[in-house]
Amino acid sequence: MKSPFINIHIHKPCGEHVLCIRNLFPDDFYEKKEKHFGYFSVGIHPWYIKDAETLGKQLNVLEELVNHKGCLAIGEAGLDKVTETGWDLQEKAFIEQIRISERSGKPMIIHCVKAWDEILKLRKQEKPTVPWIIHGFNSSEQMARQLLDAGCRLSFGKMIMKPDSKTVNVLMNLKFDDFFLETDDDEIMIEQVYEKASEIRNESIEDLKLQQCNNFELIFGISPH
Ligand SMILES: [Zn+2]
Repeated sequence: MKSPFINIHIHKPCGEHVLCIRNLFPDDFYEKKEKHFGYFSVGIHPWYIKDAETLGKQLNVLEELVNHKGCLAIGEAGLDKVTETGWDLQEKAFIEQIRISERSGKPMIIHCVKAWDEILKLRKQEKPTVPWIIHGFNSSEQMARQLLDAGCRLSFGKMIMKPDSKTVNVLMNLKFDDFFLETDDDEIMIEQVYEKASEIRNESIEDLKLQQCNNFELIFGISPH
């Protein structure tokens, strides 16, 4: 049986022959006029937290959407040291979402900018049993190891296309069930990411597709075939 390409994190509707998890924000559900989103993740991004009151409302919406049959994950959610959103508010939003994710048994898609220690600290503190998928991973091999040991998976996108990127070495040495591939909102096709990843890992695209399908089934409990 032919395996589809899997795109674990994308912001727009995805192409044919691709199984994707489209990322939505809670408001999207009511503002976009689409009736069917396919598989999606939904969460409160640290960039878009306005104030405590708005956050409360968004969390309520999230609690509902999480039960939707198309919802496979919570996120992207996380911590960002470069955005203007206040730290306390970010942390509160993240912790609440960790708990929603754990209650629903659905994994998280994590956005992390310069906050690795804090992400690891919260994973230790909250002790979730669901995996967290660190999307757009762009850090060292050492950090990759710490995250994997803590029960996270890594997801790679456009950074692996850059020849001098440190992520190339990380991806090269990972076990096949440690990672996913994505396009995020970048102007690249998932097929290109697979092509680059298969080159870096020195394995065929068909093997990579099959492995990614197995990982997907393992993490989300759904067979992509
Ligand atoms: Zn994204």
